[in-house]
Amino acid sequence: MSEAKVGNYEVVDHEYDVVVVGAGGAGLRAGFGCAEKGLNTAIISKVFPTRSHTVAAQGGISAALGNMGEDDWRFHMYDTIKGSDWLGDQDAIEYMCREAIPAIYELEHYGVPFSRTAEGKIYQRAFGGMTTHYGKGTAQRTCAAADRTGHAMLHTLYQQSLKHKAQFFIEYFALDLIMDEHGACIGVMAWNLDDGKIHRFKAHQTILATGGYGRAYFSCTSAHTCTGDGGGMVARAGLPLQDMEFTQFHPTGIYGAGCLITEGVRGEGGYLTNSEGERFMERYAPSAKDLASRDVVSRSMTIEIREGRGVGPKKDHIHLNLMHLDPKVIQSRLPGIAETAKIFAGVDVTREPIPVLPTVHYNMGGIPTNFRTEVLRPTPKDPNNIVPGLMAIGESACVSVHGANRLGSNSLLDLVVFGRAAAIRAAETVTPNMPHKSFKEGFDGTHALVRLDKFRHNEGDLSPSDLRSEMQLTMQEHAAVFRTGDVLEEGHRKIVEIFNKRDNLKVGDKSMIFNTDLVETLELDNLLYQAVASLSSAANRKESRGAHAREDFTERNDDEWMKHTVTYVDEQGGTTIDYRPVILHTLTDEVEAVPPKARVY
Ligand SMILES: Cc1cc2nc3c(=O)[nH]c(=O)nc-3n(C[C@H](O)[C@H](O)[C@H](O)COP(=O)(O)OP(=O)(O)OC[C@H]3O[C@@H](n4cnc5c(N)ncnc54)[C@H](O)[C@@H]3O)c2cc1C
Repeated sequence: MSEAKVGNYEVVDHEYDVVVVGAGGAGLRAGFGCAEKGLNTAIISKVFPTRSHTVAAQGGISAALGNMGEDDWRFHMYDTIKGSDWLGDQDAIEYMCREAIPAIYELEHYGVPFSRTAEGKIYQRAFGGMTTHYGKGTAQRTCAAADRTGHAMLHTLYQQSLKHKAQFFIEYFALDLIMDEHGACIGVMAWNLDDGKIHRFKAHQTILATGGYGRAYFSCTSAHTCTGDGGGMVARAGLPLQDMEFTQFHPTGIYGAGCLITEGVRGEGGYLTNSEGERFMERYAPSAKDLASRDVVSRSMTIEIREGRGVGPKKDHIHLNLMHLDPKVIQSRLPGIAETAKIFAGVDVTREPIPVLPTVHYNMGGIPTNFRTEVLRPTPKDPNNIVPGLMAIGESACVSVHGANRLGSNSLLDLVVFGRAAAIRAAETVTPNMPHKSFKEGFDGTHALVRLDKFRHNEGDLSPSDLRSEMQLTMQEHAAVFRTGDVLEEGHRKIVEIFNKRDNLKVGDKSMIFNTDLVETLELDNLLYQAVASLSSAANRKESRGAHAREDFTERNDDEWMKHTVTYVDEQGGTTIDYRPVILHTLTDEVEAVPPKARVY
């Protein structure tokens, strides 16, 4: 640690082998993995680690353990590829589904208190889109700690990080990446929210694990901290974002409140009904019914509401029923849900249905990486060209294992499998205590402080929260479950205008000792890069695939569109769109690739 002068600021300089930005499931798994391998590792987090959004994960984490009946990681791989609507990279999906089994046992040994079967094995429940024998049977593949799996996992991973002596910088807000003159990442600038000091971290590998950008929307299940800061930093560094048109709507957010009711409810036997009391999913997905994949269920619910069969006085939502379940099952497997339904919908789940509505839940798109978690910057010669020194994992990344639609319980898995993969790759590329080069002028982090000052001293007349609402309502209206060209184009125009209103912001009342306007403005800026990328990529993709359902192009079109969208956003909100081929081969010859076919449940 030393002091230096950068621009107008006295900054504190740090040198680490690896810096991880983010202390959710992905960041912690990578962080202690690196520390365990002898790398000098810092983990930076804007919130206390165990407050990261991973703590809110309910239903569970998938792995073909076969504790509740037959299963095989190859079935899991097939389901994930089908769930992705053939946009997922099959080498990465193979890696994730195979590594899932040791990853769960590893979590068990670290101390995750999984629910148990009568024989003492890890309890597993059914989740959407999960089958045996390549679509024929139903798999019970989701390992659960009641309906608080993320909570159990995050606390365990935090304890492991303490045990392995990763160095924490808590309530530090990462501002921007520091890139060198060759385009390699050499560290990150951060702002200590406690005393306002600027810290400059040099690292041989910087690992982004900053989570999703759900808060670009008005109604989402994500925490207020899910503002896609990593994606914003990457876009400002001139690097691309991938598949940003694919946003998952979870079928069962509580009507009005947006809080999540886990798919595990349907996995335990809960079902959806319309105003006629009909179990309508039987019509849309005759075999999987309520456990079809999320995009399919969300669309079916939206159609029911549109056609006048919604429930409630405005006929604008759907009922989720679990009154028929044994109260003992609810008590032991879904206690958190019973509590959430009581608090946010005033419903006693043993007597009444829960009012629900599809709600923004997960971002399939993000920072493109390979299965080793190295960040990609495609070139005309090499679509898989890597950015030296930069990795991304978890919801901030697009590996891409979820493709156009993620299967429930595959994200917690993605966190631990690719968090571990990042640590493995970091240990292969970095020798502990390797010397660092000194900063060169123009590549020393000054740009991050110029941006901070710009927002701090802006003298406009628009409040950050008003601009945020404009963005959120635009996304909600223009990038919804069903999409058409006109609505998307108009949304894209609007969001670019909103993007450019950032110059007219007025940040905070300077006379106040404490206000959060500046940090919220930085988050809003990050969200806006992703909102622009999301709408422009969605307007550009003229087909329906997974979560991207176009009413003007209703079919999947593999000939033209089986490719990843790669989007660059500039400082005026302009976008440049490029593509990367989907990886359709497997990693090993232990399993065959799954060729595309129609996706029915
Ligand atoms: C309500 C809910 C329930 C879910 N249930 C499930 C489930 O049952 N199964 C499943 O598989 N998936 C589930 N998901 C999805 C899954 O939980 C998330 O995708 C996953 O937890 C994201 O983890 P992460 O580590 O990538 O990011 P997060 O857990 O969101 O953590 C992000 C971290 O980055 C840090 N950070 C961000 N920006 C900055 C910055 N600028 N500077 C410093 N630090 C920063 C934050 O402090 C935080 O530590 C659920 C999601 C939600 C919202």
